Amino acid sequence: MIETRNLTKHYGAIRAVDGVSFRVEPGQVLGFLGPNGAGKSTTMKIIAGFLAPTGGSASVLGHDVETEPVAARRSLGYLPEGAPSYGEMTVGAFLDFIADIRGLAGDERRRRIDDTIDRLTLGGVWNQTIETLSKGFRRRVGLAQAILHDPKVLILDEPTDGLDPNQKHEVRGLINAMAKDKTIVVSTHILEEVHAVCTRAIIIARGRILADDTPAGLEARSRFHQAVSLTTPNPLYAKETLARLEDVAKVEIDAQDQRVTAFPKPGRPIFAAVAELIRTQGLPVSELALERGRLDEVFREITTADAAPAEAAR
Ligand code: ADP
Repeated sequence: MIETRNLTKHYGAIRAVDGVSFRVEPGQVLGFLGPNGAGKSTTMKIIAGFLAPTGGSASVLGHDVETEPVAARRSLGYLPEGAPSYGEMTVGAFLDFIADIRGLAGDERRRRIDDTIDRLTLGGVWNQTIETLSKGFRRRVGLAQAILHDPKVLILDEPTDGLDPNQKHEVRGLINAMAKDKTIVVSTHILEEVHAVCTRAIIIARGRILADDTPAGLEARSRFHQAVSLTTPNPLYAKETLARLEDVAKVEIDAQDQRVTAFPKPGRPIFAAVAELIRTQGLPVSELALERGRLDEVFREITTADAAPAEAAR
């Protein structure tokens, strides 16, 4: 569906994209994660045919974006960063204009426009100019132009950026609903988004891919994976008691909220043993949780581990 091979993009001395290769299959929602300036937007612009690579190649449904740009773009919808241009146009005129560009006509045109308005609840602002819309609605108009021709492949650059929590929830729901019959790449720096919409995540920093895994696979790399956290009035006593369990490697007390976390030895689940200990020792525990792993910590570790040798080499 989407394939990049050793994609590079240099701006003078800056290597915005530095040898990026990946394939995305039908039905996958790939999260493109990385700190600001990682090269996410640049990679997406190249796939969408808005920017020529310095080296390597990208293709959409087997069509190379440089040598067969028309065929590649036909099956692709692209939501760029920020708001759509053409601020002085009304929503209706803008979507009509996009329908023209996409060559939609007759019944199909009407059906596609109706379906898009419906999905993004744009009916109420049809006659309003884009520049007078709230940020959330402008983002929806951007999404509308991306999905109007019902493309097989969607490239969405920070689709929930600037939206309030309710709007974020709506857009994520929309992406999930479209995921069944499309291939979607979504860039984000919001880690909770990975859980909400992605089946797979690529972590990118300094133009290079540093991890390519499922969200659960990434969480399993966290030192918190399968750790057990609890809240108790006497954290010090709980720490001492938990540390005596055979399969517990280490116990920590969080300085901020006084939560006690017991970390297992590798591959040795401890939840049942901790629960049993609480019962037999009569530990007063108000909260007990099995941790899945913390994406924010994995993200930080992966993206900053890369920075150290690069900085040192300068
Ligand atoms: P991200 O989307 O992950 O935040 P970008 O792809 O926008 O990252 O940018 C990657 C790097 O390329 C950054 O260092 C950025 O400053 C640089 N860059 C992006 N666009 C340009 C440009 N037009 N000219 C020069 N440098 C650019």
